[in-house]
Amino acid sequence: MSKANTLRKEISDVESQLVLLKAKLDAAKGDEFYRCGECNKRTVVSTTSIVYEHRYIEPYSCNGGAYWTFRRYIVLCNKCCEPTHINKDHEMYNFVIDHLSQFFEQLDWHPMQHCDSITLDDLRQIQK
Ligand SMILES: [Zn+2]
Repeated sequence: MSKANTLRKEISDVESQLVLLKAKLDAAKGDEFYRCGECNKRTVVSTTSIVYEHRYIEPYSCNGGAYWTFRRYIVLCNKCCEPTHINKDHEMYNFVIDHLSQFFEQLDWHPMQHCDSITLDDLRQIQK
């Protein structure tokens, strides 16, 4: 085998290892804990639900608005049932971003009115 082919083979082996390690990391991240801001209890990420809250931009001018845009994440604590709103400045924001695909379920919420807090009724609507 030529030197170049030997190196190609080594790179291919390392790339395969990398794919395997990333898959293992994703699985391990699901076993990490999320700490609820309300009850301060820890919950395994892979058993916790997350909601993608969207915001409606009302029509304005001739051709602006009338669309939905992402607003923030809401983590639903399965210990105290309280939602934690995760805006960009929240201390758990980076953790949530890093674990998005490891949450138990990812729900979309499109509230028809501007609201500052998700309620249990809202949750029942989402989970239907
Ligand atoms: Zn809680």
